[in-house]
Amino acid sequence: MKSDLSKLVELQKTDSRIRELRENIETAEDRRAVLEQEFEEHASSIRDIQNRQSAAETQKASLETGIVEAKEGLERANRNLTTAQDQKQYEAAMREIDSLNKQVSKHETQILEQMEIIEESKGVLAERAEEVTNLDSDWEAKQKEFDSALRKDKNELKSLEKERDSVFSDIAPRLAAVYNRLITRSRDGIAVAEVVDGACSACFMSLRKQMIVLLRTTEEIYTCESCTRILYIDHEEQSEASA
Ligand SMILES: [Zn+2]
Repeated sequence: MKSDLSKLVELQKTDSRIRELRENIETAEDRRAVLEQEFEEHASSIRDIQNRQSAAETQKASLETGIVEAKEGLERANRNLTTAQDQKQYEAAMREIDSLNKQVSKHETQILEQMEIIEESKGVLAERAEEVTNLDSDWEAKQKEFDSALRKDKNELKSLEKERDSVFSDIAPRLAAVYNRLITRSRDGIAVAEVVDGACSACFMSLRKQMIVLLRTTEEIYTCESCTRILYIDHEEQSEASA
């Protein structure tokens, strides 16, 4: 038969896990929002590059149209030049040719600038190709993983809450009352504290040697002299540590 102390330890472990699960579930939506924000930032850094490339392509196409139009204008102006009847018409055609040539060369420079942007964007996107391709599927996988972890937590909580009732009902009423008093009083939800490295793991007070010996050798209920929590030593961990 289990000792009172080991029942209390089991109850504490169950309650701590319940507390942890409830916290996970309560913070789930906040944690999901953080994930979404991270994804959005990531996705928008890629979208920015894609947008920059497509804006440059649009701009380049419109500059090319501009050159075609300017060249048509040049043909017209050249015809006017050859058919000029007087000095005035001749000078007008020359001015137009000059201005259209300037326009063509300006457009050509601007096209080179846009091509540089396009090449640069393509380069970055090629470097991050795998990331770009997997962006959506990675995000879906991450969401699925999150949802399944949350579902698992909810299921575990449900079954632990049931288990807790039976563990609790098995504890002597006097000890159950002590446990309840301690757990309502403590902010960390710890009523039964493990002894770690010779100290109470709840308040970190070092324990007297004599107390440690008693905890190791008996199954009696002892409490921390500083925080009054019930103390226990995990025998399995003790033997593992000494092995
Ligand atoms: Zn303590």
